[in-house]
Amino acid sequence: MAKGSLQPERASVLMYHNIGIPPKGAKLRGLYVRPRMFSFQMWYLKRAGFQVVSLDEMVRFAKEDSGKFLKKSGGKRLVSLTFDDGYLDFFENAFPVLKKYGYPATVFVVSGSAGKYNGWDSDTLGVRKTLMDWDKIKLISKEGITIGAHTVSHPRLSALAGDGIVKEVSGSKAEIEERIGKPVDFFCYPYGDFNDEAVRQVRDSGFLGAVSVNRGFLYKGDDPFKIKRVPVWLNTWPLSFIYKLHSDYEVKKGIPGR
Ligand SMILES: [Zn+2]
Repeated sequence: MAKGSLQPERASVLMYHNIGIPPKGAKLRGLYVRPRMFSFQMWYLKRAGFQVVSLDEMVRFAKEDSGKFLKKSGGKRLVSLTFDDGYLDFFENAFPVLKKYGYPATVFVVSGSAGKYNGWDSDTLGVRKTLMDWDKIKLISKEGITIGAHTVSHPRLSALAGDGIVKEVSGSKAEIEERIGKPVDFFCYPYGDFNDEAVRQVRDSGFLGAVSVNRGFLYKGDDPFKIKRVPVWLNTWPLSFIYKLHSDYEVKKGIPGR
């Protein structure tokens, strides 16, 4: 095992999209993780002694403001689970497994598309994927899942002019807070696309942190508004999953040009 396996100072934020069987003809099938694989992955985290924590705890870790929870964890390696877009298959296939293990997780919802489908990439991918409606989002929020914001309409933020970024960022925060009756503290950049203005807007809107699609781990002192993640794909077989978490593979993948 690479030296990374013994680094409790290195935390991992895992990135998931769909938990389900990819439908025939769908492009970018890599975005799906089969339910059996997902179950294995959740089992492995427990078996290997990872501490699965909320993004809130992750941000405290990055800010070196270790809460009492982290002190209790006694140097265990931290993992956080994130699910982009808020698909119905999260509710059907991931939520029951998370409940079984008592794992916290964050789901980033597109506020203007709740109860609809992935209109932003359904044509490109050749598949309409159903998104959770507000009743389901409220339900999982009550059951301990953190709801994060993923804009109103899933645009590339750097392409927006005028007050476009403000509307997408603080607009989604306001609507989700209104619907679930709780503060929304975390943001996810659509397509992982952000520029300085987007980051500033996310910070100024009152979020505590934001996740990107840049690959790598989280270390103390990292910017909580540019959190790197470890993507889990359809072809992330058990050994690849273990390798991703314990080796420097993701660090190398995160270096531009590789
Ligand atoms: Zn997305």
